[in-house]
Amino acid sequence: MLPTTPSNTSRSEWHALLLPWFRVARRDLPWRRTRDPYRVWISEAMLQQTRVEAVVGHYERFLVRFPTVEALAAAPVEAVLEAWSGLGYYRRARALHETARELVARHGGVFPRTAAELEALRGIGPYTAGAVASIAHGSADALVDGNVERVLARWMDWPLARGSAELKRRSWATARALAPSDDAGEWNQALMELGALVCTPRLPKCSACPVRSACQAHAQGRAAALPLAKPKPATIEVELSLHLVEDSGRVLLRRRASSGRMASLYEFPTTEERPGGVLWPARPELALAEDEELACFGHAITIHRIRARVVRARLVGQLGTTGDDGAWSWVARADAGRLALTGMARKVVARCLR
Ligand code: SF4
Repeated sequence: MLPTTPSNTSRSEWHALLLPWFRVARRDLPWRRTRDPYRVWISEAMLQQTRVEAVVGHYERFLVRFPTVEALAAAPVEAVLEAWSGLGYYRRARALHETARELVARHGGVFPRTAAELEALRGIGPYTAGAVASIAHGSADALVDGNVERVLARWMDWPLARGSAELKRRSWATARALAPSDDAGEWNQALMELGALVCTPRLPKCSACPVRSACQAHAQGRAAALPLAKPKPATIEVELSLHLVEDSGRVLLRRRASSGRMASLYEFPTTEERPGGVLWPARPELALAEDEELACFGHAITIHRIRARVVRARLVGQLGTTGDDGAWSWVARADAGRLALTGMARKVVARCLR
């Protein structure tokens, strides 16, 4: 039977080991200089699945553009997607915008103080709710992200697979048991910081770790092996042609449908080489003649490994209208890079339109 939660003795020991380290080692990050729940929330939304270094600049620019939750709620979603451009996972930006509107409509723009109340808002999950409530309001709420899961799996020596439901369940139970009633926000950040700086995925720096004396995986010599690797899904190879169609200083782009994969983002006319492709189905309203190949690059979307070639092309005949699944637009060449683009479209702009 795996230990689920730490005893009171080890709980106090962990606090005594980790918190002093955090007070000295913590990185000075812009969102750590505030307890404004709006700012904490924006940083947490950006930090999910994105590196800290990539977030810093975006965070400050985003807050200049949308300094309050009211300003974010009042903005058109296109402006929010544009400001998010470069951070990827645009679903987060759309959810952020919807949540801002709900916060203003239902709470007058005032953030609820507990994780349970925050979680009742659409678009805020348990991690973000715990982060905002504990960091901004000092509530005794826990949080679990990938860093916390890894740190706890090692401290407790759980031989569980990364991403498994059991690891998630145990991590939440343990994180809740560990969260102090006074300033859980500091504790939560200390756990995440340990995971980011010391208890790293591949090569944990156990010899420099402030909690090694209490770490069970370290004592057993299997720190780097935990959490266990999860079985990898098979990858799917996809070959695409992205067409650069220009006319009088403008380029042809397609805005994807407002729901589904990469919703509302702009992309270049795309053809999947394999007939009957499901990711980019054939578009009967668009007939193109290819001229020359301009570039070639690789791209990954979830399990799809994409080989994309960029081809200069001409329209043959009239451009037909699309149905509900997107819309064509001619955009000034110089403006294309400012739109909310798919990751592949950004690569085309960088390679062929600069
Ligand atoms: S001793 Fe090693 S495995 Fe344990 S928490 Fe520290 S870095 Fe992680």
